[in-house]
Amino acid sequence: MNGKRFIIITGGVISGIGKGTTAASLGRMLKEQGLKVGVLKIDPYLNIDAGTMNPDQHGEVFVTDDGYEADLDLGHYERFLGENMSAKNNLTAGQTYFSVIENERKGKYLGSTVQIIPHLTREIKNRITNVEGDVIIVEIGGTVGDIEGEVFLEAIRELKLELPRNSVFFIHLTFVPYLSVTSEFKTKPTQQSVQLLRRIGIQPDMIIARSNRKLDEKAKNKIALFSGIRPAYVIGLEDLPSIYQAPERLFLEGAHFKIGGYIGLDMKNEFKWNIPKCDKKVSIALIGKYTGTDDAYKSVIESLILSEAPKPDIVDSEIFERYDDERVNAVLEKYDGLIIPGGFGSRGIEGKIKTIKYAREHDIPLLGLCLGMQLMVVEYARNCLNLENANSTEFDENTSYPVIDMMEEQKRILKMGGTMRLGSQEARLIKGTVLYDIYGRDKISERHRHRYEINLDILPQLKTADTDPEPSNMRISAISQFVEAVEISNKRFFVGVQYHPEYKSKVGSPHPLFKRFVEVCANKS
Ligand code: GLN
Repeated sequence: MNGKRFIIITGGVISGIGKGTTAASLGRMLKEQGLKVGVLKIDPYLNIDAGTMNPDQHGEVFVTDDGYEADLDLGHYERFLGENMSAKNNLTAGQTYFSVIENERKGKYLGSTVQIIPHLTREIKNRITNVEGDVIIVEIGGTVGDIEGEVFLEAIRELKLELPRNSVFFIHLTFVPYLSVTSEFKTKPTQQSVQLLRRIGIQPDMIIARSNRKLDEKAKNKIALFSGIRPAYVIGLEDLPSIYQAPERLFLEGAHFKIGGYIGLDMKNEFKWNIPKCDKKVSIALIGKYTGTDDAYKSVIESLILSEAPKPDIVDSEIFERYDDERVNAVLEKYDGLIIPGGFGSRGIEGKIKTIKYAREHDIPLLGLCLGMQLMVVEYARNCLNLENANSTEFDENTSYPVIDMMEEQKRILKMGGTMRLGSQEARLIKGTVLYDIYGRDKISERHRHRYEINLDILPQLKTADTDPEPSNMRISAISQFVEAVEISNKRFFVGVQYHPEYKSKVGSPHPLFKRFVEVCANKS
């Protein structure tokens, strides 16, 4: 094989139709062909990375091993491809502008007028061509027609001309609504979206049409005619029971032969990837506060699904603040297991603490992730150690028992954006704990994203499990320079971790913590 090939995926009509999962599915399908697949997610927003964005609007912030705070699509890529991503796999408009302006100040363009074309476009093309792999999938965020996305489309239009013939393949992913009143698919928005693409000089080579139900031949032919592509190159992708079925669907549609034929790669008629099944009969609730979109807790939800559990209910912790214990218990009673996910800021905190109290007192499996672990400690301090009003200084600066406090190194940092304790960090597991049993080894490396930690000065009662033989006490089960995990070992499952195991689940290898949690939840006896 000579030279890299590039598959560029743009989106049309509306956002939120699963461009990320479709791109990741395509990547997986190509990986099954024995190709090395590289990925670049382009985000046309001006933020340098996703770290400063509200998950309610933009979905979760995905953290890579190298501590980059990425768009959640990198999570799809990791899970589908079974490979770890890094900062190199995500490009934002903010990064490109920043780098061009920095270069200008360094005098790198001396004498020139610095412009969108060619300076910014050159920067974008370099980032795209530097991604490693046989086939590079470039997913452009947003929808064609967005003003922010134009410079990226221009860069890609140029790239096609600069690279060898037939090494760039354009896929436009659109939405084709079905009108039940007249029993027909409506292709007009797709036609118009293709016109927008053409206006900037891009002719799609393939259209993947997302729809609520299976696209019929009539609609396919119409889209093909108006978009100037062959009908076989219009692929329908209706909503599937599981997103993990999409790679196989694309394969069955022959997308690999169609793309391979164009970019000159031989494809095999083989596809072996195992689709995870979700047949465990458990009901799990995630008690969170970003309830605007499921995307806010994407990696947690997918980690459960990859552990064969159905999708969890997302319960708003804020409502619990107005409820007495009895009413909280009445809501939570129907669940086999509870998760308190990560989060920032004081909204909904007391509701999460009530949830933890319920789980501890009724021995309901509970998994606390980052903020969730910190609140397990707060609840334990208040209700078991009688440290009245114990809290994290994130929520009450004047608490008499700051059991969770800002890490010393963080107190010196005044800048926001990429400054938390981020990325993979090592920890040592304590033998004899549930956590040790789950991992079965001494050393682990897990991804972090936090500013606060357990304050052992205020909590000398909290000991490592090897120095405190009492399993009904809350004990430390993993440690580094910081406390990395706590548990009450004699409960069915009462485990909190300062890190984010959810970022490491892949198809076929869900994170062991989730796997065990789901197993315990399913074992109701
Ligand atoms: N807000 C907490 C901290 O900064 C928890 C962060 C998180 O859950 N990711 O430590």
